[in-house]
Parts: sequence; C-alpha cells; structure tokens
Amino acid sequence: MNNFAYTRAERVEDAVAALAAEPGAKLVAGGTNLVDLMKYNVERPTRLVDITRLPLGSIEETTEGGLRIGALVPNSDLAHDERIQARYPLLAGAILAGASPQLRNAASTGGNLLQRTRCYYFYDSATPCNKREPGSGCPAIAGQNRIHAILGTSEHCIATHPSDMCVALAALGATVRVSGPDGERTIPFAEFHRLPGDRPEIDTTLAHREIVTAVELPAEDFSANYTYLKLRDRLSYAFALVSVAAALRIEDGRITQARLALGGVAHKPWRNWGAEALLTGHAPSSEAFGAAAEHVLCDAKGFEHNGFKIELARRAIIRALGQAAAGTPQSQTDKRIR
Ligand code: SF4
Repeated sequence: MNNFAYTRAERVEDAVAALAAEPGAKLVAGGTNLVDLMKYNVERPTRLVDITRLPLGSIEETTEGGLRIGALVPNSDLAHDERIQARYPLLAGAILAGASPQLRNAASTGGNLLQRTRCYYFYDSATPCNKREPGSGCPAIAGQNRIHAILGTSEHCIATHPSDMCVALAALGATVRVSGPDGERTIPFAEFHRLPGDRPEIDTTLAHREIVTAVELPAEDFSANYTYLKLRDRLSYAFALVSVAAALRIEDGRITQARLALGGVAHKPWRNWGAEALLTGHAPSSEAFGAAAEHVLCDAKGFEHNGFKIELARRAIIRALGQAAAGTPQSQTDKRIR
C-alpha cells in the first residue's frame, strides 16, 4: 500500500474543497471496498478525505412523499429502518441479499453506489486491465469470464457492477443528490452508472470534485407486489451471477405499472423500460413474463464461460415476476427459491 495523507472533513464544502485541491484525493466512509483496493495496489490515493463526520446520516421524508437517504446511512440501518421495510421492502430485501452483516454495518449508502467491479483481473495488478490501466487490454474477454457481463459490453471491458442495493434503486426510479464546486444537482439513477464503451475506467457520471450526499426515493413504493431474487454460486455470501428486482402495481387483475431491473449482467444496474412497457396493461401470466424476459435478453451476448447467464437470467426474470405478482417475495433469510 502506498503512503497517503489523511484529512477529516467536518462539512460537505470541506470535502468538495479537498477533492478540488488534489486530483489524487479520494473520499472514504466505510472503506469496505476502497481499502481492499488500496491493499491490492489498484487504488493509490494521495490523500484520503474522511467523510464519516459529515451530517449525512439520516433518513428523512421528502415533500413529494418519498424518502431522502443520507449518503452515510449504513446499509444495515437502511435495510432495517421501519419506513424502508414498510414502504420500500424491495430495497430492504436487496440490501439484505448483499455482502455479510459485518460489511453491511460498515458500508455506507453512498459507498454502495460507488463500489467497483469484482472482475478478477481488475484486482490483479500483475495483469492488464483497461479499467485499471486504460489502453492495456481486457484479458477477461478471452479469459476467465464466468462472472462477467452479457448486456451492454464493449470490446474494451465486460465487467459487471457488483451492487444489489443499486438494482433495487434502479427499479424504484431513485435519484442521486450530489454536491460539487458549482452547487448541488440531481442525477436520475439510470444515468448515474455508465456503460464501459471506450472509457471503462470511468464507472459513473459523478465528477471528481463531486460528493454523493443522498439518494431520494419517489413516493411510489411498490410495497404490495415486489421481489428481489438473487442467484449466486454460494448462497451464504457471494456476488450475483444474475439478480432481478421486480415490482408491479396490479389493479383489477391487470398490471398498471411494472419495474424490472437486473444485476450481475452489465456494467450498471440494467433497468429495461421496454420490458416494463410490454408488461403494462396485461394480466400477470407466464406468457407475459416470458415475453418481457425475451425482450430484456434479445441483445444479450455470452462469452466462453458465461453463456449460461442468458438462460439463467431468462428463468430468473420469469420467476421474479411470478413472485412479485403473487405477493410472495423472495426471503433473504430463508434463501430457498419457492
Ligand atoms: Fe478490466 Fe473490465 Fe476487462 Fe475486467 S472486464 S479485465 S475490469 S477491462
């Protein structure tokens, strides 16, 4: 690990100023991903700006009827908050499907958004990697790619985004509040993470001098018909091979609103508006769910070791929509799939 300077920010403005003053500065809160990356010599910040004292640790009502989640709210607190459990159980379920209790206690809401891919090559500084060293190549494309993406890939990177929480936030239509030298702005969740294209080293649309201050949930909570289904190699603790956040509003036997987002399949949480439109207006049925799954996966592309994900995702979408429609969400404590 390289030497680095340390600063503790007491105000959001101090954190923004510290980032602006030093291109190599990085913010740290829970540190559950950043410190690992520093140990692997992947991240080499010249300065760590400790933001754990900033007043961003509360969950508040918004005037629009939703909730504003401060960027420093720990993942555990968020998942177990009574308002989240009652009104946004899709989000609570996704958080509890991720990581371990110890990690969820330390990890922050903002940090969850900003965690980096778990591509093996990205963590191995002895190998090339376009995300770690732009222009060096992507050994995953012809190498070990079992956990890699099947949607939105480029010839430069086929990594996936590892978060579970972000898949639920994408489905719920959250927004991200950020603060920078020019003031505050709001980024729709679907525009926060980006696809790799020819710049895979850039994960998000956040500028270097900006800090995530909150995530806002809209009033529509989908608390009656939802599920978060996560499929992985090791049930107790592993990143998703495929996950599905499904949320439906059903009135008089017809779907009047549908939300569908996938994790473990792309460089960003993969929400599909076309599939949502296909479901809307129809009665819940295996035919309608199958058509939505086909739509999501029509452009999917597998590589040598991850082609199985296409069929796995198709089945997971159909299963998740069925669970959501039946009002029998996937349990994150009893993880057997019903
Ligand atoms: Fe690097 Fe992306 Fe290729 Fe992985 S998939 S080796 S992160 S460029």
